[in-house]
Amino acid sequence: MLQVTQKIGIKRIIIAIDGPAASGKSTTARRVAQRLGYTYIDTGAMYRSVTLKALRTGILDELRRSPDRVFALLREITIYFDGDHVFLDGSDVTTDIRENRISREVSFISSLKPVRDKLVEMQQQLGRTGSVVMDGRDIGTVVFPDAELKIFLVADARERAKRRYAELVAKSQDNSTLPDLDLIEEEIRQRDKDDEEREYAPLKKHPDAQQIDTSSLTIDHQVEIVHNLALEVQRSGR
Ligand code: C5P
Repeated sequence: MLQVTQKIGIKRIIIAIDGPAASGKSTTARRVAQRLGYTYIDTGAMYRSVTLKALRTGILDELRRSPDRVFALLREITIYFDGDHVFLDGSDVTTDIRENRISREVSFISSLKPVRDKLVEMQQQLGRTGSVVMDGRDIGTVVFPDAELKIFLVADARERAKRRYAELVAKSQDNSTLPDLDLIEEEIRQRDKDDEEREYAPLKKHPDAQQIDTSSLTIDHQVEIVHNLALEVQRSGR
């Protein structure tokens, strides 16, 4: 009986995971969500989808000169998730949004206020019922500042570049075409700088967020830490 009461009393919390590029956010968030039976929402995929749309419609360069044109781009856009897949205007773009050219342009698109306003609203809708793990750059600071658990993941830039390189090797058919480690590190550092220095919703740690340095942690270990923190918060009913 006691067990049943406790189960019913378990709070449906929001877990916000922020941090710089390749700090292990998405893998950790996905696996913690699986363990808890929660929904995982990858907000980076949403910014990447808008970037892909800007590239495909050929207006990306124009947006640099006239940022207001972004309203037209946002007027008719649908982004949704189905399991691990991301759909942009009805097409599966899960693989396309991971391309390097998207990674290079996404910080510019995500610095535009109308883009942020639109995506933040969608994210708040997606997470409104709780039981979600959402990762990004501004989840704890802007999207869900009242999230019951806020995590800020960091890791040494070289280590993050190595992880990204290993991911690329795992996916690639021909390793001779891969960018080298120094270039990957440089691009990661540049993206962090752009995300930290932008005017709207810059990447920063919420004062209540628990910072975890994953430089020398395995994925299993970081999942364990975040999962245990989540269980603690659920049990305490905070
Ligand atoms: O997480 P991921 O590396 O896929 O994010 C891609 C980019 O999307 C980030 O570098 C950042 O510019 C932007 N982003 C953001 N706010 C979020 C999530 C991602 O600005 N909540």
